Amino acid sequence: MNVLVAGGAGYIGSHAVRQLLAAGHRVVVVDNLFRGHREAVPAEVPFQQIDLADTPALADVLARHAIDCVMHFAALTYVGESVEQPLWYYTNNTGGSISMLRAMAQSGVKRFVLSSTAAVYGEPVEIPITESCPCQPINPYGRSKQMVERILADQAAADPQFAAVALRYFNVAGAAPDGAIGEDHKPETHLIPAILQAALGRRERLTIFGDDYPTPDGTCIRDYIHVDDLCAAHLAAMEALRPGELQAYNLGIGRGYSVREVFRAAEQVTGRAIPVAMGPRRAGDPAVLFADSQKIQRELGWKPRYTDVVPIVETAWKWFQAHPDGY
Ligand code: UDP
Repeated sequence: MNVLVAGGAGYIGSHAVRQLLAAGHRVVVVDNLFRGHREAVPAEVPFQQIDLADTPALADVLARHAIDCVMHFAALTYVGESVEQPLWYYTNNTGGSISMLRAMAQSGVKRFVLSSTAAVYGEPVEIPITESCPCQPINPYGRSKQMVERILADQAAADPQFAAVALRYFNVAGAAPDGAIGEDHKPETHLIPAILQAALGRRERLTIFGDDYPTPDGTCIRDYIHVDDLCAAHLAAMEALRPGELQAYNLGIGRGYSVREVFRAAEQVTGRAIPVAMGPRRAGDPAVLFADSQKIQRELGWKPRYTDVVPIVETAWKWFQAHPDGY
């Protein structure tokens, strides 16, 4: 297929580009490079620096490259930032997706794969979380994505040819095993990169956000999925798109690790004593989140290859050692 990867210069998008190429697809990348990195996109891949707001430019790319499917990774992803600047999040994430969908409608492109998030569930009513759990997001980031899911459902109802899938990510981590591409966020707020930056002396210490949660060791439990497993699910979901439908799938490994467990895994992988301090809880962090990802396993035959956090941290460590200051 001819696939347009929006946000293909970002962390997850760049890993998806590699997998699409390896699977024999033709790939085109658009990215506004606000937080993406031009170096993350292979030189042979057609690239255009376009903002999602620019509907005519998107429509032009879709038509010129005869795109069959859009994989949409281009979004702002920080919960705290979304609370402080909700209009920016709704404009970029929700408005940007509408712009892309309008461009697709103009160009007759009918397939859409959305990066969604476990944040659409909000405070979980049951653990593990299944796709039938109620979607009650508790911050603008989660709501900005939930709105896109609803728009996709409406579009699929209105256009029997339109096919979409929303992939609800849990905690994406790790990097390409060859260390060529990886995570380079500024600011970096995620746990595994923060621990590894502390291991490298690039930050003073890791601060654990609360150890008084109702979990066995008091720290929050999350479901860490390797970025390559996540991207493999995108390819499987793209192949299985069904006209007139929006499907939603959770992407996690179905197992939770506490912050302390991840920290210990990082000490084991790096062989270093990593400076650590205890801090207060971070607002909006549920105690325990992990996925039930049986639906995608059952329906699409997807399975995570990384089922333990240690090898996931190993791939991230390889990237951070080779690129301590990012790209
Ligand atoms: N966390 C932490 N210290 C940090 C970054 C994260 O203790 O410097 C904790 C955070 O409170 C959460 C878990 O690690 O329980 C994963 O956080 P992250 O920001 O990586 O992902 P999120 O779960 O927010 O999507």
